[in-house]
Amino acid sequence: MIKYFIYCRKSTDEADRQVLSIEAQITELKEFAKRENLEIVDCFTEAKTAKKPGREKFEQMLKLIENGEANGILSWHADRLARNSVDGGKIIYLLDTGKLQSLKFPTLWFENTPQGKFMLSIAFGQSKYYIDNLSENVKRGIRQKLRNGVYPNKAPIGYLNEPRKRTIEVDPKTARLVRKAFQLFASGKYSYVDIDKFFFNQGVKSTTNKYLRMDKIRNMLRSPFYYGVFEFAGETYQGSHKPLISKTLFDKCQEIIRRKSKTYINHKDEFWFLGLAKCKECSSAITAEKHFKFYPKTRGKVRYYYYRCGKKHGYCSQKYVSSGEFEKQIREILWSHSLYELNAKRMLNWLHADEINERKTVENKISLLKPQLSNVEQKLDRLLTGYLDQVIETIEYQTAKKKLIEEKTNLEEQISSFEKNQFLWVELVRDFINSALEAHKIACAKNNGEELSFFAKKVGSNYFLSGRRLEFCPMRGFNALAALAPAASAPLSLHDLR
Ligand SMILES: [Zn+2]
Repeated sequence: MIKYFIYCRKSTDEADRQVLSIEAQITELKEFAKRENLEIVDCFTEAKTAKKPGREKFEQMLKLIENGEANGILSWHADRLARNSVDGGKIIYLLDTGKLQSLKFPTLWFENTPQGKFMLSIAFGQSKYYIDNLSENVKRGIRQKLRNGVYPNKAPIGYLNEPRKRTIEVDPKTARLVRKAFQLFASGKYSYVDIDKFFFNQGVKSTTNKYLRMDKIRNMLRSPFYYGVFEFAGETYQGSHKPLISKTLFDKCQEIIRRKSKTYINHKDEFWFLGLAKCKECSSAITAEKHFKFYPKTRGKVRYYYYRCGKKHGYCSQKYVSSGEFEKQIREILWSHSLYELNAKRMLNWLHADEINERKTVENKISLLKPQLSNVEQKLDRLLTGYLDQVIETIEYQTAKKKLIEEKTNLEEQISSFEKNQFLWVELVRDFINSALEAHKIACAKNNGEELSFFAKKVGSNYFLSGRRLEFCPMRGFNALAALAPAASAPLSLHDLR
């Protein structure tokens, strides 16, 4: 008996406008299931586009199918399942491997045969064609607007979209206020918050009747749109809309913004490695600190960042480490516990060879067990015949049967555990190689404190700071890499990692 999952989807895409609502899809599909006598085990709904891969419920459903929780899908139309080639391919692959045995659509005939799959891939392909076509039309519209100097987006504050003429017009209500805001800001006496207050008092509020968001104010003051040009996809266009301010006033504001940003520091971004290490001497957590030093004749005020022992447990003799040095040590740790691309590739090749070997060994083992299993099954059969023919006594039959059943279960378990576990370790090692490769890339990249901190925890644990040096315990697997310099060509046995 085939077990079905129901899958319903409707997004806010243009393409989905004509599609039944999710509720209506569920009702229709349940009725269809009743009519066709289909067993439904679960129902998945999603309000996401199928243009791109990455739908959670869809992925979850495929995973359950892979695990054998169900082997059929009931959906309104093929285009509910996929509108992109990746997801379409996944469905067809599951059909090929037999994990999926049936697809049912009230609106579309499908049969799990080569011809059926061919028709299905056309149905997925048509949905993709529709999407490709649609976005091509949207793109064409945008290009036309750009040629005409019309900003192809929502009009910024101070302007309105004019839908009939497809242009952007001055908003008589807010234009005056925007102009005033630029003038106030250019005087240098007003902060972003003051400008926001000004708008609020003049009745320009967010949709929830609150202050406008601060980044909206910042973006407004930085937008060249107000003196007549705009940027789109990295290019600058001369707009056909009416400017609200002069270029001179705009430039004055940019100067003020530059001056303000020098004193603006994002504190959170400075210390990525907080909470990573402890002091080895007194096991206090390592904290971070910022210092200013003043060089009156040369550099003026200079900031320094440190990591140091929190000294929460009394006296401790450990000294601070500059944040640059700290980061450098983390980079070195990642670098020396990572895999250079060529080595990673080579290891993946070895892994593949090992996988093929393992597959052979496991197949051999299974092929030895299978005859034993059928032997036991035959014995059981003969035993039953003997019992039915009254050649064997009930007690004798029961004892012999119990023994044979035990034997049978044992064999079945062995076979299924071989089938299930054979490639588990291959997947683990493959994941490991890929993350060691990623660690290498991250160690070499720039300005990526967050990634460094994340990977430091992946590569090792128990970080301690002692005498300005970081010590740590490499995670299993990564310790084997430390022995091998990333660029070294020395062969590395995979079995070190297992
Ligand atoms: Zn300490």
